[in-house]
Amino acid sequence: MSRTIIVSNRLPTKVQRTADGLTFHPSEGGLATGLGSIYQADGNVWVGWPGTFVDDPAEHEQVTERLRENSMAPVFLTEPEIRDYYEGFSNGTLWPTFHYFPQFATYDSSHWQAYVAVNEKFCQAVLAQTGPDDTIWVHDYQLLLLPEMLRRERPEATIGFFLHIPFPSYELVRVLPWGADLLRGMLGADLIGFHTYGYMRHFLSAASHLLGLSNQNGLVETGTRTVLVDAFPMGIDYQRYAEAADSEAAQAHQLHYREALKDVRVILSIDRLDYTKGIAQRVLAFEQLLVRHPEWCGHVSLLMVVVPSRDQVAQYAALKEEIDELVGRINARHSSISWTPIHYFYRSFPFDELVAFYTLADVALVTPVRDGMNLVAKEFIASKTDQRGVLILSERAGAAVELSDALLINPTDTDYMAEAMHEALRMPEEEQTTRMANLQALVRQYDVFAWTRLFMERLAYSKMKQQTLATDALSPGAIDQLLHDYQAAPHRLLLLDYDGTLVSFQANPQHARPDAELLELLGALTSDARNRVVIISGRDRATLDQWLGHLPLNFVAEHGVWLRRAGEDWQLFQELRADWKRELRPMLELYVRRTAGSFIEDKDYSLVWHYRRADAELGAIRARDLMSHLTFITSNTDLQVLEGNKILEIKNVGINKGTAAARWLSPDPPEFILAIGDDRTDEDTFGALPPEAYTVKVGGAPRSLARYSVAGPADVRQLLRRLC
Ligand code: UDP
Repeated sequence: MSRTIIVSNRLPTKVQRTADGLTFHPSEGGLATGLGSIYQADGNVWVGWPGTFVDDPAEHEQVTERLRENSMAPVFLTEPEIRDYYEGFSNGTLWPTFHYFPQFATYDSSHWQAYVAVNEKFCQAVLAQTGPDDTIWVHDYQLLLLPEMLRRERPEATIGFFLHIPFPSYELVRVLPWGADLLRGMLGADLIGFHTYGYMRHFLSAASHLLGLSNQNGLVETGTRTVLVDAFPMGIDYQRYAEAADSEAAQAHQLHYREALKDVRVILSIDRLDYTKGIAQRVLAFEQLLVRHPEWCGHVSLLMVVVPSRDQVAQYAALKEEIDELVGRINARHSSISWTPIHYFYRSFPFDELVAFYTLADVALVTPVRDGMNLVAKEFIASKTDQRGVLILSERAGAAVELSDALLINPTDTDYMAEAMHEALRMPEEEQTTRMANLQALVRQYDVFAWTRLFMERLAYSKMKQQTLATDALSPGAIDQLLHDYQAAPHRLLLLDYDGTLVSFQANPQHARPDAELLELLGALTSDARNRVVIISGRDRATLDQWLGHLPLNFVAEHGVWLRRAGEDWQLFQELRADWKRELRPMLELYVRRTAGSFIEDKDYSLVWHYRRADAELGAIRARDLMSHLTFITSNTDLQVLEGNKILEIKNVGINKGTAAARWLSPDPPEFILAIGDDRTDEDTFGALPPEAYTVKVGGAPRSLARYSVAGPADVRQLLRRLC
């Protein structure tokens, strides 16, 4: 039976060392609740760090045994590992970079090495729990390398990855010396999930810029697999908050607070201590409210909970001091004997008291400068069972994408934030109810259970899609059969594409000359009288002549315009016109002017626009644009536009590699056919061949007519070498 394994830095249990020995407390976080139905099901398990250092082997066993009873498996980390991997790289490098605070990031290669080593440690721990066909769901920024590490060991596993923090613009990713490694690590997954479409778009852009990987509708071709990238805004356990809000415990707390505050209205602020949360700006904005609208003095207080977090780190300690000072100054300046402007708590509160704060508050002020999602906003909404209350929300929190009925603000604009508070405090009850009802409907529907289900469904879909689209990798078994058929055949036809198949792509096409190894390989293949070897290329005649003309090869040039049999002269496939080139060339020139790095290749009977050297995203946009222009102009003509690998080619209808390939099938049909190619133009070749032909697609195969696929030119050469 295949199982599901959840992996995250921390286990959903806190193991603590007390005078009485080790204690175990389940954590109540949203993720633990959402995933509870998965990891607690039969045979499934959650792998992670238990949150405390355990050196003693007997204690190791005790912890392992105790966790096993609760469907968990520990990864024991040492103090240096936590210091370098967790506090160092995860929280000191990735956290600030991904939240647009690169000025706080450190770039320490020893932290990076620890990050790699601990990801490897997690990999071993997961492997110990899984079989080849299991489903593994990896969570968050501490484990970005894990999907790829797992993929290497478990090629068939179903692997999902979800990032709980923002994914930043490519401009931030490129700042990291290890940006490309991190992207490759994530791309080991079958499904990569983000909270918002914006983060997903940033990831796709980074993959394009740093790894040269393009995508179609979120499907990324890595060369060996198709990876689905998608947005899944995470929700909360709505019912838990709604029920707690009406519970006796929470109501008792609320009553108690209300008595203490009398009729002072409450603006609530709750966060972990973090520079991403915009806490200082928020406090300043509250002061602005008192200054601009003094009528609120004595009538409204800010109830601010800051949960201690990472306070050994210098930036966090400095932030704590800044907030302490600000609150002290504002309270000293504005308070009266009977009224305190800011009630400030630097500690965490139990669940019931937290919910009592939510139900008590007139306004929730959630104003992070950057936040992956923000659950406090959603918890406030779920707790407002009387549908009174207003949410003021930063447009830079992931949650803002969904919660459009909140008052959305820019967290750096303190004046505007103060006005939003003023507006919220005066908002008519009817409007509060309308907005809250809309917000509640949304948070209720997209709760954490719906989130979990949807992710697992899309993960299964991604795997299914890979299996239906993928051509089979050319396995050792298939190679044996191919070699056997090759040996047995008295006449063999080898149709070989050149660029991307026999040689790798170069930024400048003129640099893709054949090397000595390739020339020797082609020489050996052509020296066997049973072989007819055809180079079937989009290149012009002169280049093929110059590079390969001295070998007894057959050639198809310009995607089928020209043919040359070994030892004969070039001949046109059929009579063609080329006068159209004069008319269309100015349009291509316009695109060259608009797209730095692109250029035109002028062949005898075709025009090609190359954009491999242009900015990847701009190139793709321009290509779509040009394609639609050309399709319009060439309709009702005998011209067609072909899309190749980073090229658009205009040529006569009916001329393609397929019709050219068919030429070699008669009058003496070969008993063995092998065709290898990497791009769309080669699909015509594959399509023109009989079903028993060995057709091989090079590189990731989104939709190929080929029977088999291999990763790159190196594999092609290895195969050809075995034929010799
Ligand atoms: N929270 C808590 N105890 C407190 C205050 C807050 O457990 O005293 C919880 C709160 O309920 C929420 C979480 O901390 O679920 C904060 O999550 P959020 O996504 O808002 O921010 P993060 O800390 O993950 O950046």
